[in-house]
Amino acid sequence: MASFERKHFPFSFAAPDAEDLVQGIKRIFCPVCGKNSEVETYGENRRESGKCKECGAWNRQRLMAWALMRVIRRSTGVHVPHLSEGRLASELQVYNAEWFGAIHETLRRLKGYHWSRYAGEEYNSGDVVDGHPHQDLTNTSFDDDQLDIVMTADVLEHIPDPYLAHREIHRVLRPGGVHVFTVPSNLNSPIDDQRAAVIDDRVVQLSPPSWHGKEVDSNLVYNVFGLEMIQHLWVLGFSVEFFEVSRPDMGIIGPRSFVFMAEKHHERIDRDVPCGLRARCIESWDAVTTRLAEEVDSVRKRN
Ligand SMILES: [Zn+2]
Repeated sequence: MASFERKHFPFSFAAPDAEDLVQGIKRIFCPVCGKNSEVETYGENRRESGKCKECGAWNRQRLMAWALMRVIRRSTGVHVPHLSEGRLASELQVYNAEWFGAIHETLRRLKGYHWSRYAGEEYNSGDVVDGHPHQDLTNTSFDDDQLDIVMTADVLEHIPDPYLAHREIHRVLRPGGVHVFTVPSNLNSPIDDQRAAVIDDRVVQLSPPSWHGKEVDSNLVYNVFGLEMIQHLWVLGFSVEFFEVSRPDMGIIGPRSFVFMAEKHHERIDRDVPCGLRARCIESWDAVTTRLAEEVDSVRKRN
């Protein structure tokens, strides 16, 4: 019998798409609005540029749409070519931690669509503030097993204790439900790069601060995620797939066009959720690589 060994680490990710190729992308099929559309020029921040001229979806939003369609196809058996497709089941319970943009505007027509805008710790989850429901992702107002899909696009790196949010998302997803998310990651690192922590209600900076977006303070990056995230998510009851997607025909390009899909797969394993200052809380490197190899194999079998 043939034997083999598979090496999954370090990962070899695709080289960044060449600048002339990227700037040569003019026409796309937009997976958000479903139109054959033109794109605006990609900027230095490729993830949030290259807007569809029809609906305004940028690169990362089209990546999220690609992932959503994959999840919907698997959970409902319905193949929808884009998110504006009428056959997209209106009874799907979808929660999007985003309150603006093309995906939000497109999904709003679904009966079971929920969204939120974080308004501050003085509010309770479910409160409506300036027309938008507020949710604290570590303690939401959703029922157990309520949702089919949760979407967070570049959100969890801004939460001091992201694994409390993952635990909460596991609670509110139905069994088989999926959390589709993007986060800054370095999957060639065994551990998360915890850049800041909240200790005794104070933000303690462990690395030079970095912010996303314009609002300094509100968008501080607490973590860049490494492979330990996969292990923690398994302990929390998720099975994780991740994809690197390059689909120039849809205007989805790298570098780092990663999207994660965490399926509510089993009950949470009875173990503390890592939080606070989490330095080196990883169980063992072997445990992570073994877990990941199993995950990769199960994904291979499924596809
Ligand atoms: Zn579009």
